[in-house]
Amino acid sequence: MVHVGTGYDVHAFAEGRKLILGGVEIPYSRGLDGHSDADVLMHAICDAILGALGEVDIGHFFPNTDPRWKGAPSKVFLEEASRQALQRNGRIINVDATLIVQEPKIYPHIPQMKAHIADALGLTVSRVGIKATTNELMGFIGRCEGIAAMAVASVDLPD
Ligand code: MG
Repeated sequence: MVHVGTGYDVHAFAEGRKLILGGVEIPYSRGLDGHSDADVLMHAICDAILGALGEVDIGHFFPNTDPRWKGAPSKVFLEEASRQALQRNGRIINVDATLIVQEPKIYPHIPQMKAHIADALGLTVSRVGIKATTNELMGFIGRCEGIAAMAVASVDLPD
């Protein structure tokens, strides 16, 4: 039986942080604020997978009050979501995500992001969709105050 889940995340820009999206360090004047590496893309995908499993969100598994996850690469969160699927004899079919970001340009980095995400989830790259769009200069994203991401995941689970 195919189950689907959705995920959404947003992080604000902060000075003195690296910008990590889909496990790729992207050259930019600021990074995203957060307890972990603040990889908004991986967080949204993680929640989509957990949603397909009928699970609670990523924050439940990795509380931002836990010093173990301070500065953690978000790949570990994706690996945990994958492990949760396997534990239920589930198989992630595909994930698809959209980054909503005014700056910087994302497009050149998408192949590398896909490779990282596919690797963390044990999927072939063709099962990972990543797109990016601007917010047409509107709202907090348009003012370059932060980046949002949304994602869907489908997981084949036993009945
Ligand atoms: Mg997050």
